[in-house]
Amino acid sequence: MVLINDQGLRMDGRRPDQLRNIKIEAGVLKQADGSCYLEWGGNKVMAAVYGPRECHPRHDQDPTKARVRVRYNMAAFSVSDRKRPGPDRRSQEISKISSEALEHVVLTSLYPKNAIDVFIEIIEAEAGTRCAGLTAAAVACADAGIPMRGMVTAVAAGKVDGKVCLDLSREEDNYGETDFPIAIVPKTGEIVLLQQDGHFSPDELDQALEMATDAAMRVYEMQKAALLARYQAQAQAEDEPAEAEAAPAGDHDHDHEDPEVA
Ligand code: UDP
Repeated sequence: MVLINDQGLRMDGRRPDQLRNIKIEAGVLKQADGSCYLEWGGNKVMAAVYGPRECHPRHDQDPTKARVRVRYNMAAFSVSDRKRPGPDRRSQEISKISSEALEHVVLTSLYPKNAIDVFIEIIEAEAGTRCAGLTAAAVACADAGIPMRGMVTAVAAGKVDGKVCLDLSREEDNYGETDFPIAIVPKTGEIVLLQQDGHFSPDELDQALEMATDAAMRVYEMQKAALLARYQAQAQAEDEPAEAEAAPAGDHDHDHEDPEVA
């Protein structure tokens, strides 16, 4: 399979350093304390956050800090072959690495004995769901008003046909040589997730790291824009209470009117 053509373009027409299209919307669920809907290429992700709230079961409580509990789940209908419902090794691994990444930024010591529950639901999957899920979860945490040292932004680089590329598509993930998801705290440059499936030379590793970090800064701007749009909509609804009663804030029946948050 030819993954990169003679013009240096990938199967979906992207240049090696180009991201898939991304759309981020914050505050899309009424019941959750914070939420985010994110589309990233063919991935569709919903993230919901509850808390900080008393941690149950009690034996899970940490008397010194809040626990950040992430549950990553792929819907049975998210892939073309029906995904067997329920947790598996892969979803447990992604839940764990996502929890650890968010724990680096959430000010957990402010909430001893509490839990912050983060749910990542993959509604449709097309490779790179851990990055899409974690990026959405960080926006949902900020939307819930959880005190954080900074945002978390995840992007994958990889190697396809011997060339370092950004944000692999499904074919590239399946037939490429290397997948390299990372997550950073854009404000500080800290790396809070780094995984590698496949091989890189030292030069390729440097290139992949730089490419993914640069792209994460672009995604970070979209995360901020989504939160800003959310606060603006909320402020507008508060300024116009009569209108807000007729069409309550958070009523997303009319979301399609302004889908391009990012
Ligand atoms: N996938 C699938 N069925 C599964 C798990 C994964 O079809 O049970 C697909 C899905 O499109 C996913 C891709 O394989 O996005 C790559 O999975 P990987 O474990 O590399 O994680 P991701 O790239 O999504 O973070």
